[in-house]
Amino acid sequence: MQKKSSSGSRQHRIPPEIGGIQVNFCKKPTCANYGVPASQRISRGRNAIKDNYTIVASGKGLPILKCHECGEHPPMKSNSGIDEEQQRLSGYLTPPPEPCCVNVACQNHKAGIYSSPTTYASFGKTSAGGQRYRCKLCGKTLTISKPTSRQRVSHKNRLVFSLLMNKVPFRRICEAAEINPKTLYDKIDFLHRQSQAFIAHRERKLLEGHHLRRVYVGVDRQDYVVNWRQRQDKRNIQLSAVGSADNETGYVFGMHLNYDPSLDPDLVEANAEKIGDCDLASPFRRYARVWLSCDYMRALLRSTLRSPGRDLKTDIAGTYRQAIDREDVEEFETPDATVRLPVDGMQIHAEYTLYAHFFLLKRFFGGIEKVRFFLDQDSGMRAACLGAFQQEIKSRRCDAFYVRINKDLTIDEKKQALAASRKVFRAVREQEADLTDSEIRLKLIKKSMASMSEIGQWKDRWLTHPFPNMSEPEKAICYLTDYDDYDDDHQAWLYNKASLHAIDCFFMQVRRRLSLLERPYATASSARRMWHGYSAYNPKSIVKLLDIFRAYYNYCLKGQDGRTPTMRLGLAKGVVSLEDIIYYQN
Ligand SMILES: [Zn+2]
Ligand SMILES: [Zn+2]
Repeated sequence: MQKKSSSGSRQHRIPPEIGGIQVNFCKKPTCANYGVPASQRISRGRNAIKDNYTIVASGKGLPILKCHECGEHPPMKSNSGIDEEQQRLSGYLTPPPEPCCVNVACQNHKAGIYSSPTTYASFGKTSAGGQRYRCKLCGKTLTISKPTSRQRVSHKNRLVFSLLMNKVPFRRICEAAEINPKTLYDKIDFLHRQSQAFIAHRERKLLEGHHLRRVYVGVDRQDYVVNWRQRQDKRNIQLSAVGSADNETGYVFGMHLNYDPSLDPDLVEANAEKIGDCDLASPFRRYARVWLSCDYMRALLRSTLRSPGRDLKTDIAGTYRQAIDREDVEEFETPDATVRLPVDGMQIHAEYTLYAHFFLLKRFFGGIEKVRFFLDQDSGMRAACLGAFQQEIKSRRCDAFYVRINKDLTIDEKKQALAASRKVFRAVREQEADLTDSEIRLKLIKKSMASMSEIGQWKDRWLTHPFPNMSEPEKAICYLTDYDDYDDDHQAWLYNKASLHAIDCFFMQVRRRLSLLERPYATASSARRMWHGYSAYNPKSIVKLLDIFRAYYNYCLKGQDGRTPTMRLGLAKGVVSLEDIIYYQN
């Protein structure tokens, strides 16, 4: 009778709210329905309860909302799916339980050794170097062992850490450190646990919200290929991570792969089958957040490939068109017959990872005065940002922009673009000698603001940024949260800040420093079948290496100013050494 109870969840008109999460509302910031979810119940006849939304079907029975105010069609999402994903991403922030007296009958069983230190007396050390304590009430002893105590050849941890962060392929690491592959994988697990514990300790301070007043955060995605493992099945797995970095300090707040290593696909698929999950519309499923094999089969039927345009404007228009062509505008994964789902752990629908990513950022940015987001042009990212930060946007503490960069220019074209903009700049300086450089910048941006172009069916207005640089040679910006309440100077200043440089810089370092992630994801389907020398076989390794690398990048890697992102952010006074992470103890 499982099946009945599950399809019974369709008695909800929209997916129910959970843990304060309800994202099923219009995402147009200036619409009266922005932040107002669709009603759970409606009725007809006299005293009818009417709603601000109608539920309509798009494509094959996927229910979506239609906003009566502005006519937008926001797709529905499972709030519990977002909540589950958010818990997965933020799990590392939960403080580990404190050690306490092991005797369940003792009153000290609930008294942590750090929060009530006077109830324990220190009691020497173990032969492995662990600290022993004795409970003053019942006399039982407990030991706090060193983090490296279960590590074989622990003196090699530093070497392995350093080689991993410097693009040495796994086989070469084994050779250089004289360890076998099993030991290497154990060490990666260990370094992952240590980095997560270390970074969590620092980031819990971010949650208290005392460190930041303003942040300018770039958000983008990076795609990865996971190699096929058997000759009979040469399809690769294609995964994508969303990352956010502060443009001022370079600090990376999160780098999240759309893959949950903890799920067992056999168990999940079997249970989904039993409860008839695939018969339900996806936002109402128990497993709304994961790619089930039924999703994959449906996606194959409508597989299309992205075809990039020639110039920035056709590219921007093309991206809007592709979003409309999709059944759900917020989805961006387009699997075809050359890719498959993971066999160990499960792929997550990338929009759910995006929503969860922004809900985690919302926790980090709780105490911040102003948050500005610069997003890659992606409908899913826009919905996740405007969905999670709805209150902050409405109260004008948060703004969001699309930033689109033409990366296909040749070096010569980049140089030309740069030279042209310098010429314009010089011309203004000659005419108006009393203006400072930043005043000239503002003046030119305001001039661009007067000639913005409307692109795509949402008539978004795009500004061409007048100051290209070599990493962002041709840049267009669209202000997504325009309430027309800033004066021209303020708005021009925000356009001037629009950039994805910090997150791009991190992405570039991922490719340069992690041998498993060197290869970008190929769009041509012939290239998708290729087997890449150093690419990952197991997505679990990608998750771990990205986590380790985020800790290393934020805390250990100095920039040209001799400081790490964490130092610039004010979370650390000095450069953190690899040993600080390896020997970190909660
Ligand atoms: Zn609306
Ligand atoms: Zn005790």
